[in-house]
Amino acid sequence: MSFHASVLTLYPDMFPGTLDQSLAGRALENGVWKLDVTQIRDFASGKHKNVDDTPAGGGAGMVLRADVLGRAIDAVSPADDPRPRLLMSPRGKPLDQERVRALTDGPGVVIVCGRFEGVDQRVIDQRQLEEVSIGDYILSGGEVAAQVVLDAIIRLLPGVMGNDTSGESESFETGLLEHPHYTRPAEWEGHSIPDVLVSGNHGKIEQWRRDQAEKLTKQRRPDLIAALDKKKQS
Ligand code: SAH
Repeated sequence: MSFHASVLTLYPDMFPGTLDQSLAGRALENGVWKLDVTQIRDFASGKHKNVDDTPAGGGAGMVLRADVLGRAIDAVSPADDPRPRLLMSPRGKPLDQERVRALTDGPGVVIVCGRFEGVDQRVIDQRQLEEVSIGDYILSGGEVAAQVVLDAIIRLLPGVMGNDTSGESESFETGLLEHPHYTRPAEWEGHSIPDVLVSGNHGKIEQWRRDQAEKLTKQRRPDLIAALDKKKQS
């Protein structure tokens, strides 16, 4: 059974977007995953088909209505849908590789793309939406964020990456950032490739890569080192 992604958005034309190219695009074509995209506005009622309204209590911007979004979610993902329902949101838990892996193991995902100031809290609570952030900055909408989440998932689905082991040493998979890479030409603008990488000594190459990964992570992401130490202790 293929991984089933359902996206709810006010901008369905933004999909599949980047996901119909390269690895994800080929996987979509091959049926490794499937995508359906739902226009939230189709579930609005009245002559004007309003999807948003002014915030209760006043203030700037507009809020996505609970009744409209609730109907859209129910149409795509009934109460017994086993798939997690994500809401793209800067207030959510920042996405990490561990969460991506866990999502990959499931039957699929339902993703709600927010717009405006955000969505009515009642629909988040009543439809058990898990708020997920892709980083500490504000996007204009959840569509690009949803594609980030799906891209990260799809590349891990069985058969998508050509070389199945190429994921294993990747940044975050080991708890460290990845070592630097080099390729031909051997000499470029007077700079050569580190000797050890052309030595043919695989033990030494592995050791060098591990050392580099550790050094880089210590410099750039001391938080990852601290997390690794904590994991080792427990
Ligand atoms: N007023 C909100 C920001 C709204 S941005 C706040 O201050 O928290 C509009 C929509 O873009 C959000 O509903 C969300 O779906 C999406 N979005 C913006 N930044 C995001 C981020 N860092 N991660 C995931 N989704 C984001």
